[in-house]
Amino acid sequence: MSLPTRPSYDLVVVGSGPTGSTYVREICERHPTARVLLLDAGPRLTDRPGAHVKNIPDPDERARAQRAAEGPGPAGRPGTRLLGTPDLPAAAVSTNVGGMGAHWTGACPRPGDGERIGFIPADEMEADLTRAEELLHVDPHAFDAAPFAQEVRDRLSALVDAGRPAHRRVAPMPLAVTARPDGAHAWSGTDVVLGPAAHDERVDIADRCLCLRVVMDGDTAAGVVVRDLVTGEETGVAARAVVVAADALRTPQLLYASGVRPPALGRYLNDQPQIVHAVRLPDEVVAAHRAVTGRTRDEDGAIVPQSGVSWVPYTDAHPFHGQVMQLDASPVPLAEGTGVAPGAVVGLGWFCAKDITPDDRVEFSDTETDVHGLPGLRVHYRHTDADLAVIERAKRAVAEAGAAVGVPLDGSPVLLPAGSSLHYQGTTRMSPADDGTGVCDSHSRVWNTRGLWVAGNNVIPTATACNPTLTSVALAVRGARALLDHLRTTAERARTTDPTGVRTR
Ligand code: FAD
Repeated sequence: MSLPTRPSYDLVVVGSGPTGSTYVREICERHPTARVLLLDAGPRLTDRPGAHVKNIPDPDERARAQRAAEGPGPAGRPGTRLLGTPDLPAAAVSTNVGGMGAHWTGACPRPGDGERIGFIPADEMEADLTRAEELLHVDPHAFDAAPFAQEVRDRLSALVDAGRPAHRRVAPMPLAVTARPDGAHAWSGTDVVLGPAAHDERVDIADRCLCLRVVMDGDTAAGVVVRDLVTGEETGVAARAVVVAADALRTPQLLYASGVRPPALGRYLNDQPQIVHAVRLPDEVVAAHRAVTGRTRDEDGAIVPQSGVSWVPYTDAHPFHGQVMQLDASPVPLAEGTGVAPGAVVGLGWFCAKDITPDDRVEFSDTETDVHGLPGLRVHYRHTDADLAVIERAKRAVAEAGAAVGVPLDGSPVLLPAGSSLHYQGTTRMSPADDGTGVCDSHSRVWNTRGLWVAGNNVIPTATACNPTLTSVALAVRGARALLDHLRTTAERARTTDPTGVRTR
């Protein structure tokens, strides 16, 4: 379905990635009657809306789904399209039901130290992170059986764990994945986040349905104007609340197009600088492992084909987030025919906390438009002197970690082009007060508006280094509570108002 079937809904959610889907799930679960429209500019790729494309068993079918998500123009990582922004050359977006959540790796670490949002009470954030882990089906132990994963962690642990609290030590990476009894793995897409809401008759999901603007009646969100991207037909849909969850580049674009332009809109853009390095475990370790267990891919079909993913948590003293992937987890079977044992090639990716400034921003044009007629966007982004110092420090830290794990495969650690993180944040960030440094409050309500919420990594205000989706889903859980209150209050107001519009009590 490309256009909504009803003229009005209680809630319209723009963007069907993990955060938009969280609002739909939370409202459906907690509100007995709310009617919800979830719309996405991209196509539905799978029967189950938003299912992860890695779960499609046929490789040709999977590639077709990825291409459909990319749309026209140069592709980035499979399932993403490059934006073509010179300051952030690797910046990419996904346009499909499920958003990037149908393509992601699923790494879901909890933020720590300075990554945490100081103005949200810690106990509330902990509870919402726990709910986010439930919604995403996060499991820290799904790959515990992966070959050499413990060996890799022991080596990293010996290097960095001294002095760290228990919850910030080297650990298996919590992943949004479900280990099936047959040993296979199912990756969490937004079908998992939506859960029963995907089949709830109160929920309509419209794909290839572009939101052109949020309709504002004074300071109140009153609905949206949408275009069916198949027929070109445009229509208005009324709503008591609108959530814009259209990613960190297109959420501020839509607010701008709607005339909602707080000073911080598009600013404080955070793309984590990412440094990568590859090593292989020493031959004697690999040989000893074989001697002990006799497990290799040839000898023992029980070996999990995807290898381990480990986590070196961010701390203020070590301001990098380490994602360590044994490269047999990649779609390229490095172990085949190379004489390298499964799990013995180890990729280290260190994400840095950015020096956040208002000058790093997405700027919108009043004269130029994109292919859909929405305001043209231009990204301004640079590494400050502080960033360059952190990047040099991170390169040394990755080289040390690599040396602790094994023998370098590819020389020195390399800084990837800006935008490679796919973790763009901050462009509609929350702030503790309406002081011009944020677009929304700590419940993701856009300052000085009613009925308008924003969602996504764009609401995160801190300089995180870790993968942000778990945090932004937790913030959506928090925002959904306030949205639920709004729906209840506005329903009560309507009930107690007579047809002439006068409140009766
Ligand atoms: P998105 O998932 O980006 O969804 C936004 C949706 O909005 C899109 O579907 C888009 O079509 C829609 N939209 C935009 N504009 C409009 C409009 N005007 N009208 C209608 N619809 C619109 N994150 C992690 O935390 N851990 C990882 O391990 C990780 N790995 C990743 C690996 C890959 C290959 C990729 C691509 C991403 C990865 N990410 C990872 C990033 C993660 O997927 C995103 O953080 C997450 O999907 C963001 O969720 P979201 O709901 O904010 O937005």
